[in-house]
Amino acid sequence: MPKVTLISVKGNSYICSGFLSIGVYVHGTSAILIDSGGDESCAKDVSNGLEQAGYVVTAIINTHCHPDHCGGNAYFQKKYPDIRIYATHDEQRFIEDTDLAPRCFCGQAQPFSGLLNKYIAPQKSSTVTNVIAPYQDQIIMVGDVSFKVITLPGHTPGSIGIITPDNVLYTGDAIFGEQTFAKHYMLFYTHIGNTLASLKKLTELKIDAFALYHGGVVENLESLAQQHIGRVLETKNTIVAFLQKQSLSIDQLTQKIMQFHNIPNNMVSFVLTQTTVRAYLAQLELEKAIVLGVQDGMLLASIS
Ligand SMILES: [Zn+2]
Repeated sequence: MPKVTLISVKGNSYICSGFLSIGVYVHGTSAILIDSGGDESCAKDVSNGLEQAGYVVTAIINTHCHPDHCGGNAYFQKKYPDIRIYATHDEQRFIEDTDLAPRCFCGQAQPFSGLLNKYIAPQKSSTVTNVIAPYQDQIIMVGDVSFKVITLPGHTPGSIGIITPDNVLYTGDAIFGEQTFAKHYMLFYTHIGNTLASLKKLTELKIDAFALYHGGVVENLESLAQQHIGRVLETKNTIVAFLQKQSLSIDQLTQKIMQFHNIPNNMVSFVLTQTTVRAYLAQLELEKAIVLGVQDGMLLASIS
């Protein structure tokens, strides 16, 4: 019995069993993956499971650059040198350059050692052979199968969803399943306005089934999307409420959010929370709800 088996979603569209719902679209004896798992060991299990089911991986479409989505690319590219790997331009740079994400989390300076791990960047580089550009909804041909690419920015700038010929949408991390949503109060976002627009867009698509990378198969996303939107608005209000009491630096706000939601004290959780706090501050500044300025050598956020 292989460690990874295929779970049917609809027609030729599947997800892999296991912690991450890696997408698989089968076509003849070829398997097209939607994301590739977090590391070599995960990719190996997927590869073995597919081989035992009679499929060879011929392509990977990455929904975005996060290491749990593209960490298996290098394994597949080594095993199948002719494999095609698809990603949008913004995401391509992070998939190919494993130093880029840790450097970004350190303001582009030399990264701290606590950020040099598989939770921040893929441990091995892979080459994106097919860049999906420009950033607009479009159709791409993978071999002779056509997939619809739906832009879903917010979690990362170049995030996309993939609709298979079965009208199944693989959402990447544009939306999270119930369990992940309940477990992690501060979901990772880099742009709040785009996040809200992408969540709304998801509810407006006529799709037969959704496959969530962290959450598996969902038939109707309406209520889950509304919960996500509600939480984003609630988090904005929480930050405003903190700032109504006093002006705070980004680190002070990050500390308050981490303490408020019992976020674990480690460097990865810190930089992910801090980045999301920055995204909320940029949105609140855009809405003229707050101002950002440097006082006494500190970048402070204040109610305007
Ligand atoms: Zn992600």
